[in-house]
Amino acid sequence: AATRNVRGSRKAPVHCVLAPKEGTGISEAESEDWGPGSWRNKEAMQQPTWPDQDKLEDCLDMIKKYPPLVFAGEAKTLKDRLADVCLGRGFLLQGGDCAESFAEFRADNIRDTFRVLLQMSNVLMYSSGLPVVKIGRMAGQFAKPRSADMEEIGGVSLPSYRGDNINSDEFTPEARIPNPERLLRAYNQSAATLNLLRGFSTGGYAALTRVTDWNLDFMEDTEQGARYRELANYLDEALQFMSACGMTAEHPIMRQTEFYTSHEALLLDYEQALTRVDTTTDKWYGCSAHFLWVGERTRQLDGAHLEYIRGINNPIGIKISNKCPPAELVELIETINPTNEPGKITVIIRMGAGNVREYLPGLVKAVSAAGQHVVWVSDPMHGNTVKSDSGYKTRPFESIREELRAFFDVHDELGTHPGGVHLEMTGQNVTECTGGMAEVEDSDLPLRYHTHCDPRLNAAQALELAFLIGNRLRK
Ligand code: PEP
Ligand code: MN
Repeated sequence: AATRNVRGSRKAPVHCVLAPKEGTGISEAESEDWGPGSWRNKEAMQQPTWPDQDKLEDCLDMIKKYPPLVFAGEAKTLKDRLADVCLGRGFLLQGGDCAESFAEFRADNIRDTFRVLLQMSNVLMYSSGLPVVKIGRMAGQFAKPRSADMEEIGGVSLPSYRGDNINSDEFTPEARIPNPERLLRAYNQSAATLNLLRGFSTGGYAALTRVTDWNLDFMEDTEQGARYRELANYLDEALQFMSACGMTAEHPIMRQTEFYTSHEALLLDYEQALTRVDTTTDKWYGCSAHFLWVGERTRQLDGAHLEYIRGINNPIGIKISNKCPPAELVELIETINPTNEPGKITVIIRMGAGNVREYLPGLVKAVSAAGQHVVWVSDPMHGNTVKSDSGYKTRPFESIREELRAFFDVHDELGTHPGGVHLEMTGQNVTECTGGMAEVEDSDLPLRYHTHCDPRLNAAQALELAFLIGNRLRK
């Protein structure tokens, strides 16, 4: 076994070796044709062109020695939770920034997004009676696929911004040069973010006895803030009742919550460096986050991203637009989940409000006919991006709402479970998406447009959406 090629392929170039060490179990864990670096034999879309390969290798070597950010056991538990969702016994709430950034890295930003996700989860649990699985697009959501390699402003053309782990969004030639030292900074920011999230979710912040404290200060005077306060008061009464029954505040269910992290597995060099063997099962896990997804732009069946993602044992998401024929979706699922394990695959539908009724039924029917177990999730953000009159990229709340409405209607008609939502949102009071009861107008967009990539729902809009979804889930 010591002489076996741990890259998983005879054709793999030398620089991708995850050093074979005798007695580590790494070579035993290798399947015949897959390894953390076997993606290098395929075409990888959306990767940066690093100017200095040696510097890249040095940075990746460091990350390979860093501790994993998540523990395989956590990813396994998440898969079990998603298996329940798959069977209609839960709902997935996944949300966070389109792109995390170095500039917006602050404790209050992490806390506020975490807090609004908890509020939304309460709204959803209260109306549906279902457990809500919470996953942040947090602690690693940096790399961005771009529709064009170059960006032009005022006649000047520069390489596109690809995420803070690669280059800077500043519009200067120097800022746009990919710098691998940014990978180290992204790893460290992810570790610190995850540390705070773990503290919040297990250390008392998320204790159910504090439901009434989770309202965000700036929401106090808003319609959504008032609605949440009302709901929190009901929950508080229910908790008093449960406490009288003997379920006291010391019970772990009352004091802690499970919170998972996720990002798009786009930058394969980085993902490979954090791919580790779980010593208890001898299986490979992507240890940069609990849940990883492949984007609509990188999900080619013969591409590098599919090759990477098919070999790790994490729960996996696939983003699907109306451009994906039903047979192709069935093949994608079969490739990533040949044993048809429930909870392994989450299909994230993002096709635009006007396309869901036409294209989603065919996808759902094909997957059902193939007997494949998947969690169906709606991402009502990515198919509804428009350029506003003021020139800002935005998403009208009404289109987001309509895509969700169509998603729920299709599942109702087909008798399948609308398993969750995937949102770009923040706990901050930004003005990036128009509409909603917050009444963000086109002319408001420049006021607080802070996103480093796509427009996010602000806290009030996110909570408003949770109430609307809750109504659909009411039994
Ligand atoms: C995203 O989730 O930010 C994204 C780029 O999505 P998609 O791959 O669906 O375009
Ligand atoms: Mn996005």
